Amino acid sequence: MSGVGSFVGIDLGGTKIRGVLADGEGRILASRQEPTGASEGSKAVFATLASIAASLVEEGRAAGRAPLAVGVGAPGPLDAERGIILVTENLPFVDFPLGPSLEARLGLPVKLDNDGCAAAMGEYLYGAGRGADPLVYVTASTGIGGGAIIGGRPLRGRGSNALEVGHMTLLPEGPECKCGNRGCAEALASGTAIAARAEEAVLAASSGGRPTSLSSCPRLGAEEVFREAGRGDAVAELIVSEALAYLGICVANLATLFDPELIVIGGGLCRSGERLFEAVRLAVRSRCSKAVSGTLRILPAGLGEDSGALGAAALAAQAACGDQAG
Ligand SMILES: [Zn+2]
Repeated sequence: MSGVGSFVGIDLGGTKIRGVLADGEGRILASRQEPTGASEGSKAVFATLASIAASLVEEGRAAGRAPLAVGVGAPGPLDAERGIILVTENLPFVDFPLGPSLEARLGLPVKLDNDGCAAAMGEYLYGAGRGADPLVYVTASTGIGGGAIIGGRPLRGRGSNALEVGHMTLLPEGPECKCGNRGCAEALASGTAIAARAEEAVLAASSGGRPTSLSSCPRLGAEEVFREAGRGDAVAELIVSEALAYLGICVANLATLFDPELIVIGGGLCRSGERLFEAVRLAVRSRCSKAVSGTLRILPAGLGEDSGALGAAALAAQAACGDQAG
């Protein structure tokens, strides 16, 4: 896949759209990022995504490295083969033909894939997981997602919807999830779940419940809850430790299922640092068999915010070049 061509990869997230222009070896030649603007509706989100892709295609052509294909990693469920986003909880798409629409706009082949699958591929080829097989990727951010690489290939399932890690039930009567189920990992351990618990705690404190320093935070996101826990607030500490315990269970279940060589964890919650990794490693040690946990490595994503976009570019390259094994 070397040579003068290049590939565009787009990571369509709930809060931002990130695009990269990359060569066949995963070197980033240019990148762009814009807020998703999910509340503006599907047409506006698509227009932003298409303009990021078009400007990267233009930049590649101007540099004499004309892109050969475009990859898009999107949250699902998807009909990846037909390039359709069926429905998403954090974005305004219903039965949206993103792949065909973008192909028509750019005049290039477009490969739509699951965002977790794309990020797993990015880490496997160019990031923390180079050569580690099987590799499991988990993203803990606004939502929770994942992907797995087995025998050098992403595990897609029937419609590219495998490894919807965030909707794995961890607590049967737990809090309601956006997907309609109760007690999903995403409803217990995501940044959104942590913020929701914090709001409940502030409400409880205002009506005579346990006081918390969270009450004086002007904004209540996961970052603030981690910060207040670090400063010794007992309520924030309980919220953080419970969320990380559930994330640990989620990762331990994946370890038991896949017996991977490596689990890579990415996403905004990783900014909380070593604490998250300690909790996850402890859960894996205490819940998985020694045969699985003994030599299993658990590492932060090596590509930071670029795992998804670079992985999407790599999947587009594989689709375009017929090189399914990478
Ligand atoms: Zn769910």
